[in-house]
Amino acid sequence: IEQELRKLKDLPAETTDGYRIALLGNLEFPEEVPSLKEHGGQGVGLYRTEMLFLNRAGGADEDEQFRAYAAMVASLAPLPVTIRTLDIGGDKIAADLHLEDEMNPALGLRAIRLSLRRPELFKTQLRAILRASALGTVRIFFPMISGIEEIRLVKVLLAEAKDELRRAEIPFDEAIEIGIMIEIPSAVVIADLLAKEVDFFSIGTNDLIQYTLAIDRTNEHLAHLFQPLHPAVLRSLRSVVDAAHNAGIRACMCGEMAGEPAYLPVLLGLGFDELSMNAASIPRVKKILRRAAKTDAERLIATLLTFSTVAEVEQFLKAEIAARF
Ligand code: PEP
Ligand code: MG
Repeated sequence: IEQELRKLKDLPAETTDGYRIALLGNLEFPEEVPSLKEHGGQGVGLYRTEMLFLNRAGGADEDEQFRAYAAMVASLAPLPVTIRTLDIGGDKIAADLHLEDEMNPALGLRAIRLSLRRPELFKTQLRAILRASALGTVRIFFPMISGIEEIRLVKVLLAEAKDELRRAEIPFDEAIEIGIMIEIPSAVVIADLLAKEVDFFSIGTNDLIQYTLAIDRTNEHLAHLFQPLHPAVLRSLRSVVDAAHNAGIRACMCGEMAGEPAYLPVLLGLGFDELSMNAASIPRVKKILRRAAKTDAERLIATLLTFSTVAEVEQFLKAEIAARF
């Protein structure tokens, strides 16, 4: 089977009716690039940078970060590398950034909130990412954005980081794209407003489901209630993709939901432009995509959105996959 999936590597990620979705990889280390290429990944949709901040006070310095990003970007150029700024806190270890214990870490000082609290730390990372953008195709995106003020503040700091590099005559991609993770319900509700601020959305279903359904993503006793096909989740996905497309920007997904082949018909029907997943999932998702028709998937999602329970959604999807996908 593995061999059969490998054969898919060089075939386009395209439906029977000619619709393409870019399939990219989620990764953390430059060492994962060969595997991404072997599985036919069209770039990196989520480069998690937390590793550079573990086990050392204040994180890696600008040069060390630059070297890590540059290695990844150069080895994949001209394919895009989508670098997410520090997403520490919550379920992700934060030992060396000296965070206090919090009553509700998932709702605490984490991700972009921490970056905005520590602007020098944040700008160091932004400069390192910008420098790497001179070596290939880089996009930057920001975790846990909950409102307009946050993204505007982020853009001010990004402009400062760019200025600092310009003054030092250090090259970077002036047209670098920026995006945000959509993983907080408030961001879903105001997705139309946020879409005017950025070049793309990337939905983080791991957190979006956690916050939408109030189900701790790490609590094994609640795992059965962590439901990607919950009608509230499906409606959220629908409204985020529509908000992105109405504003003329890309709708991407980089949460675990993107790498589950059984959800591909749903995501295809919703109209996602890019899906990013663990490299090993790419061939399996591509296989389903190449057998599917966009028109069937659109009919499917229209029906799924009429159901009021998860059970109905699951049952109908299962029957449709057996019959059509
Ligand atoms: C997500 O929340 O879905 C996501 C992709 O980010 P992380 O799992 O790193 O929080
Ligand atoms: Mg997340």
